[in-house]
Amino acid sequence: RPHVGVLALQGDVREHARVLSELGAEVSLVRRPVELAAVDGLVIPGGESSVIDKLSRAFGMREPIQDAIAAGMPMYGTCAGMILLADRIIDGIEGQQTFGGLDVTVRRNAFGSQVDSFETDLDVPVLGTSPVHAVFIRAPLVEDAGADVEPIARLDDGRVVAVRQGPLLATAFHPEVTGEHRFHRLFLESLPRA
Ligand code: GLN
Repeated sequence: RPHVGVLALQGDVREHARVLSELGAEVSLVRRPVELAAVDGLVIPGGESSVIDKLSRAFGMREPIQDAIAAGMPMYGTCAGMILLADRIIDGIEGQQTFGGLDVTVRRNAFGSQVDSFETDLDVPVLGTSPVHAVFIRAPLVEDAGADVEPIARLDDGRVVAVRQGPLLATAFHPEVTGEHRFHRLFLESLPRA
C-alpha cells in the first residue's frame, strides 16, 4: 500500500492523516529530511503558510522538499499548502517564501476580512458528478496560471480554487475537514506504483 507523509510542522496535520489512513495508505508525519526520504508522496496541510515556511527553514526541510518536488514526488497542498506550492504569491508577509512547483500566482487571504470563511458546493468534473462541499478558511485564490496548469474547480464567478500540474495538486479549501475523500484518493492514485 502507498506510504505517504503529512508535513507536520504546523496546521491541520491530524485531519489529513485520518483521511489518508481511512483510504488505506500508510501515513507518516514528516518533520525531518530522513522522514521525507521514506515516503512516496507528501501532503502539505492547511494552517498558516508563513509559519510553515519559517519552520521548514528552521527544520532544514526547505531544500529537501524543493528537491523532492523537482524529482517529481507527488504532493497535495490544501489552503496554506496551496500557497506553499505556488511559484508566486501576492500578499505574503515580509520575506515569506514558498517551495514552488506550481506555475501559478496565488493571492493569500484573498477573501479579505469581510468574508473570512465560507462554504459552498463546487463542481469538480475530475472527481465525478456529485459536487464537493468546500470549506474556505482565510483561503487563497489562484489569480494566474501557466499553460501547463489545469484548473479543476472554480467558484460560480469563474475564479480558480483548485489546480493540478503533473504530480502536484492543490485546493484553496479543506476537503480534510468535511469527510470529502476524493481529492486525497486522486493524490494517492498519482503515486508511483510499488
Ligand atoms: N491564510 C492562511 C495562510 O496564509 C491559510 C489559511 C488556511 O490554511 N486555512 O497561510
